[in-house]
Amino acid sequence: MNDLYATYRIQRETLVHNSLEFNRAYAAKVALTIGQSLGDDLARLEYSSRIIGEDFDHEAQRGAEARRLAEQDNSFNTVIIADSQGRIVSSFPPSLSVNGQTLRSKEPLEERKAMISPAFSSLVGNLIVFVSQPIWSQEGKYLGLVGGTIYLHKDNALNEIISKHFHQDSSYVYLVDEKRQLLFHPDPNRIGEQVGSNAAVDAVLRGESGAASVRSSTGRDMLAGYAAVPHSGWGVISQQPLSVPLTTLRTLMWRVVVGIIPMSLLGLILLWWAATHISQPLSQLAEYAEQRASEEGIRKVRAWYVEAWRIRRAMIIAAILTQERIGKLNHQAYSDPLTGLGNRRVMERALEDWRLCGKCYAVISMDIDHFKRVNDMHGHAVGDKVLQAFARLLKQNCRDDDLACRIGGEEFILLLPQTDLVAAAEVAERVRHSLESTPIPPAGQVTLSLGVACSEDGQADPIQILARADKLLYQAKKAGRNRVVATNSVVAGIEV
Ligand code: GH3
Ligand code: MG
Ligand code: MG
Repeated sequence: MNDLYATYRIQRETLVHNSLEFNRAYAAKVALTIGQSLGDDLARLEYSSRIIGEDFDHEAQRGAEARRLAEQDNSFNTVIIADSQGRIVSSFPPSLSVNGQTLRSKEPLEERKAMISPAFSSLVGNLIVFVSQPIWSQEGKYLGLVGGTIYLHKDNALNEIISKHFHQDSSYVYLVDEKRQLLFHPDPNRIGEQVGSNAAVDAVLRGESGAASVRSSTGRDMLAGYAAVPHSGWGVISQQPLSVPLTTLRTLMWRVVVGIIPMSLLGLILLWWAATHISQPLSQLAEYAEQRASEEGIRKVRAWYVEAWRIRRAMIIAAILTQERIGKLNHQAYSDPLTGLGNRRVMERALEDWRLCGKCYAVISMDIDHFKRVNDMHGHAVGDKVLQAFARLLKQNCRDDDLACRIGGEEFILLLPQTDLVAAAEVAERVRHSLESTPIPPAGQVTLSLGVACSEDGQADPIQILARADKLLYQAKKAGRNRVVATNSVVAGIEV
């Protein structure tokens, strides 16, 4: 908006300057043309005055010269010849009928030189300008004058010059004489009117030429150019109302504003789009933060600029830390603190999952033999060590997919997914043999009894399968301990 106002100010100054300059040049041109025309008129009159002076009393010759002057071109509306007393002795056209009358203005008679009069009302009531040359005899005696009148309201060369130059754009030209009378004005009714105070008129009548912003007699602000007319005390003023270039400028500025609106709207839309684009990753991150979304969720947010990227990174780190902390808690909730194996809850969960997805699996139920004795003989701490050593051993003897759990004091369960009874019995035997053959100092040799059951024989309910494995374990105890008992099978020479 500031730019627009600055543009307006500059354009306004330029337009005002241009208009002043145009009117100055224009007034100068019109003044020069009028001056040349008046110069020509004076030259013609001087030539005629010499012819008439040769034989002033020759009436026919005077009449012929008056006629020639009047008809020669369009300069004069009428021509008169007066004697030294100011009495009109010849005139043209005859319809004028002023012969014998006396000139109103005595000035040319007294001055006895080439003159261009101010505007005045003629004998027959026309507003005229009188251009005259004195007539001298060959002996140098003043005989009178020859003069041409220019009717300010009628067609003549002067009117033609100004009218021809009268131009559009509400600019107009007027002509004033030394008495501030309007010799020409586009409004014919104003011809003869005396112009009031006006800076341009004052300047031009002082013989100056130039341009100025003035207030017209009708109170309008004008951009005026002015120039003095040579050979006369007249001045030409060419002026244009200030409102004209300003209206043009306002129209132009309005068009610019109208032109700017779509661009501004487009700018706003682009701004809105950019703002949305920038805020999108932030609002997505905020949403994820509210939902406490996972690390993967946060990673999906397209953080396309540095600040969003940094926020996302911070959130990912926070999510990872949170997950780690939760993982630790989960571990604590689902693992046995003494051995690090799964606890009863983990076992139950796994069995439930496998039941739901119809997975077949085997269960090995284990109980350390005469554990009480270990505690009794070596103390509770050694008992714990035995439990930990067995847990390690158990892990070494099973696959990654198998789940080893401690479900009671010295009772363990090994869950074997996708495993049939025979394979599970073999694992059980391996475990048994491994413990039997690995003394645990200071307790020494420790043994255990194992019961193996499998879901593949149509028993899908985990509780029942567990119960069966326990039952078989009990049978192994009863049968003398340190042995494996599997459903309907004999493993490692141990029969059920
Ligand atoms: P068997 O199973 O062969 O019939 O004899 P057992 O001596 O192992 O019999 P029982 O199941 O009655 O004894 C288990 C003992 O395990 C009882 C308890 O003192 C001991 N025990 C239970 N939990 C822990 C534990 O966390 N640490 C230690 N050191 N001992 C435990
Ligand atoms: Mg027991
Ligand atoms: Mg026991």
